[in-house]
Amino acid sequence: MKPRTGVDRSITKTWRPATQAIRGGTWRSDFGETSEALFLTSGFAYESADEVAARFRGEAQGFTYSRQTNPTVSMFEERMALLEGSETARATGTGMAAMAAALLCQVQAGDHVVAARALFGSCRWLVDTLLPRYGVETTVVDGRDTQAWAKARKPNTKAFFLETPANPTLDIVDLKAVCDLAHEVGARVVVDNVFATPVLQKPMEMGADIVCYSATKHIDGQGRVLGGVILCDKQFDTDLLGPFFRHTGQIMSAFNAWVLLKGLETLDMRVRRMCENAVQVADFLSPRVPTLLYPGRKDFPQYDLAMKQMAAGGTILSFHMEDEKQAFALLNALELIDISNNIGDSRSLATHPSSTTHKAVAVEIQRELGITPGMIRLSVGLEDPQDLIEDLDRALKIIGL
Ligand SMILES: *Cc1c(COP(=O)(O)O)cnc(C)c1O
Repeated sequence: MKPRTGVDRSITKTWRPATQAIRGGTWRSDFGETSEALFLTSGFAYESADEVAARFRGEAQGFTYSRQTNPTVSMFEERMALLEGSETARATGTGMAAMAAALLCQVQAGDHVVAARALFGSCRWLVDTLLPRYGVETTVVDGRDTQAWAKARKPNTKAFFLETPANPTLDIVDLKAVCDLAHEVGARVVVDNVFATPVLQKPMEMGADIVCYSATKHIDGQGRVLGGVILCDKQFDTDLLGPFFRHTGQIMSAFNAWVLLKGLETLDMRVRRMCENAVQVADFLSPRVPTLLYPGRKDFPQYDLAMKQMAAGGTILSFHMEDEKQAFALLNALELIDISNNIGDSRSLATHPSSTTHKAVAVEIQRELGITPGMIRLSVGLEDPQDLIEDLDRALKIIGL
């Protein structure tokens, strides 16, 4: 098992992202397989006792146990690191395992964390419920307000945690400015980059220290498996993340890593096409619904910042119907677009955040975030955009709009 024969790693590092997503991190066994091999093995056998001792001392390369790392998982981690431009990566069982590990590995009782208030529902639970339970103080701020981040800093602030664009309001955080503020007080910035994807936004180039993904979303992109990944530098991994990851058993299964390696091969193409489709759907919907939010439209309140940080407006749009009754009626009238709380799939999926993804967030906090009872989030897929438009048009007509 070795890096693809004849490939010079100093050359492969210079490949552009679309190439990395297909070829980065490929290892080949002696069989010369073109598609990455799936190593469904929990353990490894050794030629000698000396050899295994050297591996456990960290003096020899090689695998020891699939809770630490596995050849198929390693390929996925290396490919993700090359794609993101980070020194290293750790693949986790789910996106939430990645978010939780990225925070928990670096804080202890008495520390302080500042987070954007607009976060994925389970990420808000980590900040509002779990961290305080372990004695970590947390402050949530309006992520769009750079001054609020500055004011929330304390001498014991260890991390900033944010998502941009945020789910489901699509709030944009000024990455460069907020990263600079964190670094002034020695805090690290953890970015949940799920909505933007590695194709559209590179938070590390703007100063982020740690980038996390739910690989369940665009990276798989075909609704098959759960997965997550944490990207960081080697020092952070050696000192904090690596031991936490290994001793709490966060690793992704080899099977899922294999599926996700296949997903990455088409990521660049899928995300770009989904963005093109999203633009067309947004243009159709905008005059037909009370309020539409899409970061790639000039009428989006943070359009300039979104376009400064992202290569396109993204694959997700949100809009507000009058109330929950009207939102439910529209969802129920759709024939092609599925009602589903997933995102980033090749199928277009619509959900009602207030009663699903953000159900665990108190109603007052939902309102503060801008999640109204009539809000619908639409993840635009790869179908012919004209069919999506016709489905929405028919559904809107059924409810009298
Ligand atoms: C889905 C999602 C997560 C959680 O990922 P899972 O793979 O479902 O655990 C975290 N953050 C964002 C923005 C997400 O969309």
